[in-house]
Formats: sequence, structure tokens, C-alpha cells
Amino acid sequence: MNIKHFLENPPSYLALKKILLNLSKKYNFIELYSIGKSWLNKDIFCISIGNINDATIFVGAVHSQEWLTTLLLIKLINKISLAISYNLKLYNLDIRKEFKTKGIIIIPMLNPDGVEIAIKGPSAGKIFSDNISNILSYSNKKWQSNARGVDLNHNFDAGFSILKKIEEKAGITKPAVTQYGGDFPHSERESKAIVDFILYNQNKINKLIAFHSQGEEIFYKYGNTINFKGKFIADIISKNSGYKLIENFGLASHGGLKDWFLEKLKKPALTLEIGRGENPLPITQLDEIYRKLAYSLILSIFI
Ligand SMILES: [Zn+2]
Repeated sequence: MNIKHFLENPPSYLALKKILLNLSKKYNFIELYSIGKSWLNKDIFCISIGNINDATIFVGAVHSQEWLTTLLLIKLINKISLAISYNLKLYNLDIRKEFKTKGIIIIPMLNPDGVEIAIKGPSAGKIFSDNISNILSYSNKKWQSNARGVDLNHNFDAGFSILKKIEEKAGITKPAVTQYGGDFPHSERESKAIVDFILYNQNKINKLIAFHSQGEEIFYKYGNTINFKGKFIADIISKNSGYKLIENFGLASHGGLKDWFLEKLKKPALTLEIGRGENPLPITQLDEIYRKLAYSLILSIFI
């Protein structure tokens, strides 16, 4: 598996595993590990580079159809690794030096079961496949949840009881293709894994960016909770990419990873909606998305 091939195809779990193994073998400064398992026992992979005592965490593919975020993060890891390896400047930044004081932790695919279902269809849901087919037959939307029909970005402990009321009003009371938040906060293996990982490392992790698609938008608030450094970083990303700053509304306003991180850790947290169009976004958008975002994303690690 070479990087070019990986970036030209939807990221199957096996392809992701192979490319991460390759990258960690090629670059001795990359640490590769798993923060836990999905319901179908897939590893939730994590890569870290640099001084992770003061680290930014990037999280991709929270939603199944949004796997272009995984490709974006792997492309970013590859560029950073090349710059460190050959001691090259990246956007005029002395990358090797910068990573001596700061670090990056990247979870390229939080929802590996969901992405596999999005790419290969309900049969990829294995023991859950009948249930997935059944849920899909009642919906005209595409699968965004995990294998159990829980929307991971509605499963975090931030305004959960309020979110449940909003879901009920919208008629979402059981597992669904999208927007069902689960029975209780962190009921899902995937959300529990990242929450436990972040809490265990909370003194080391200084900010979070969750990657979604689409809309070219940046969400930086949770209710009335604003972190001013987070707003500052959102402004930098917006200025450099043309992405718009947005305040949450409706169903998307509670239960998210960014919401939980902002409220619980009181540190900067953003949701970035990459690209424009219908999910899954075509791979042909990757280069343009990267071109718009790479500079400010790399800069955000060192702020
Ligand atoms: Zn999303």
C-alpha cells in the first residue's frame, strides 16, 4: 500500500491499517497505537508525532459517509512526516524544531465500522447487518451511524437529556441511519474509547479539532460556551481557507465530541466541515480541500 494509491480510493479498514503500519515503519518518530475497539472489533487507530505533552488532537470519520476526512488526515500526516524526515520547511515553519515543543495526535477514523458499511454496504455490518438493512429500508438517507445505529456525534455527554428531547420531537427514538444519540452518553465503544483516551491524557491534550463534511464551515461554540483561544484559531482557519464561522443550531447543537470537549475540558475545540457537496464527497475534492486548509491546520498545532 503506497500513499498515492491510498489517497485515490475510499479508505477501507484494511487499507487504513496497512498505510498506518507503513508510515510508522518508514518514520521512526511516528507512534502508532489503538485507543480501543469498535463493536465489530476493529481497532480505532491513533498516531502521534512530536512532543505529546503539549498536543493537539485531530479526529476524523466520526460519521460514516465522511471518510474523506480520513484521507485528508493521512495526507496531512504524510506531508508533516516528509518535512520532519528531510528537515524541510513547511509553510515557512521549521517543522522539526516546532515538534520538539508541540505534538499532534491523530485519530483518522473514529467510526471504522460505519465507514466500512458506507463503502461496502450493510453486509459489512456482520452480526448487525440484518438490523442495518432493516433500518435503511425505512429511510431515504445514507448510513452515518456506527454498526449499532447510533450517531456517535450525538452520543457524547454534553446536553444529552436536552438532545434526547429534541430527538424525540423529531421522531427519532431508536437506532437510525443518522441522529439517534443512543440510550445514554458514551454508550458506544467508539465514543467511550475516545472519551477515556482524552480524559486519561487531559493534561497533555491542549485542543481538539473534529473533522466532518460538508459545508466549508467551522463550529467553535457550544451553547454559550466559547473558548477565546478556540475562537482565535477558528478565525485563523477561516481567514486562510475561506471557511465560514457558524454557531450550532437544532439537532446538531448537543451531544457532539466538540461540545463535550469544550464543556468538560474547557479548552479549544472546533468542528470543521470540510468540502462542499453531497456526502460522501468525491475524492477529486481532496486536493482542493487540502490546499485550502493545510497551512492553518499545521499552524494550529503550534498555537
Ligand atoms: Zn459529520
